[in-house]
Amino acid sequence: MPRIQPHLFVIFGATGDLTKRKLIPALYSLMQDADVARRCVVLGTARSDWSDERFREEAREALRDNGYSEEAVAKWCTRNLYYQCLGTEGNDYGQLRDRVEQLERHLGLPGNRAFYLSLPPSVYGPAIEGLGDVGLNDSSGWTRVVVEKPFGYDLDSAQALNDQVHRHFDEDQVYRIDHYLGKETVQNLMAFRFGNALFESMWNREHIDRVEITVAEPLGVGGRGGYYDQSGHVRDMVQNHLTQLLTLVAMEPPASMEANAIRDEKVKVLNALQQPDPETDVVLGQYAAGTMDGERVPAYREAPDVPADSITETFAALRLNVANWRWQGVPFLLRTGKRLPRKLTQIAVRFQSAPISLFQSDGAPCVPQNADCEAPPNELLITLQPDEGFDLRFEVKAPGTSPDGAMALESQHLSFSYQDAFGPVPDAYETLLRDILMGDPTLFVRADEVEASWQLYAGLLDADLPVHPYEAGTWGPAAVDRLLATWTSGGPASPPA
Ligand code: NDP
Repeated sequence: MPRIQPHLFVIFGATGDLTKRKLIPALYSLMQDADVARRCVVLGTARSDWSDERFREEAREALRDNGYSEEAVAKWCTRNLYYQCLGTEGNDYGQLRDRVEQLERHLGLPGNRAFYLSLPPSVYGPAIEGLGDVGLNDSSGWTRVVVEKPFGYDLDSAQALNDQVHRHFDEDQVYRIDHYLGKETVQNLMAFRFGNALFESMWNREHIDRVEITVAEPLGVGGRGGYYDQSGHVRDMVQNHLTQLLTLVAMEPPASMEANAIRDEKVKVLNALQQPDPETDVVLGQYAAGTMDGERVPAYREAPDVPADSITETFAALRLNVANWRWQGVPFLLRTGKRLPRKLTQIAVRFQSAPISLFQSDGAPCVPQNADCEAPPNELLITLQPDEGFDLRFEVKAPGTSPDGAMALESQHLSFSYQDAFGPVPDAYETLLRDILMGDPTLFVRADEVEASWQLYAGLLDADLPVHPYEAGTWGPAAVDRLLATWTSGGPASPPA
């Protein structure tokens, strides 16, 4: 079994939220192997004038918040965490290089380095240049650079950033994060599809009526108003997370489970996707004030750093068509927003109904051979949040007979819960950090992949679309229901159950 090699893990943006909430806990969890922990060292860096001790104290607090024991945490922090202040001009990257080399000499590390850019997106480029200029893009061991989302603001900026990255790093050194790909259920999509012939034989336009992908978030924009208002929900969620989920549902079986074989298939899906027509395939919304859990929540426009006349979307619903032999004509419906009734990330695969229903369903009798009488469709729900698992809806005979003597059907479920079967699932960041340290790029987004997904939404991002208000705590603007009804053959797509 390959193991994590000794390395130096350099975090840019070490004073930030992501470092505290996700990276430090994930690194600590990975370092529970005592042998690994001795030789895996974290160097935090940011502009703030922190000391090693201040960084360790902040990390101790973050780990305490995650329920780890004080004593073990204190030991790890003292032995493994260091901090280097990084200004914005002068020879700061030179000083960073000197500190990296000094730590490696002092601690006997072999020169394996990961640079994690947990920075505001506008600083990715300068950080890449800074690393390249002082030779930190190469070492006696391996060197990897990890770039957080969002990667670019549109197609042009993503291409420019890729060019900048490739001036200093080879593509196989680059790990573009989409943390949805680190979730167990997302990875299990591939295992589910390609490890079970049962479903794969039905995974096509002959048997599937539509696919709905929902990412619903009850929270508002919180303190991220300044960033979010420049970005909007299509850039923040659709272009990356939802599109990644779609590619995993729609991709062909790869030739192998090797990283590039999988990513090749995902890119083929992106290339087969038709750009949505902004007029007919898209509804945007913005949450107004409303009531959630009995409490009034303010409108998006009342959030800090959001202009009172903002027209930034906090909700998007789209219909996409994958124009290839497997999927042509099957609508892929994406729906995502903030201030929706509950947290839910779910892929609903609705199969086609049996051609004729011979049974009574929902109390309505069906006359045998009546072609207008539709049997309820089977549906597979793949839930990523909050309870990771699968749920297959199918029809059974309800006990007894109805008054007219007909056999009646009732929907039942076959359910699988990750938590029940395997216990708590690791956090996505832990999975992704392990893969970075093991040199496995499968769950990271390749340069051509990120550009293809920006290309898909180029027309939408340029369009001047109405942004419909919706009340916080509802499933989005009313315009969605009208639109969904015209999108699908089997009637309006329902809000998630
Ligand atoms: P924060 O604003 O909390 O932290 C940003 C960090 O970058 C700070 O450490 C800040 O420290 C540093 N920084 C800011 N400007 C500069 C600069 N010019 N040069 C060097 N360092 C700078 O952001 P987050 O931690 O929330 O997010 C970081 C990245 O991760 C972003 O790209 C975000 O989109 C992404 N992300 C975050 C998630 C989260 O849950 N927080 C989730 C998914 C992605 P200092 O001011 O001391 O320099």
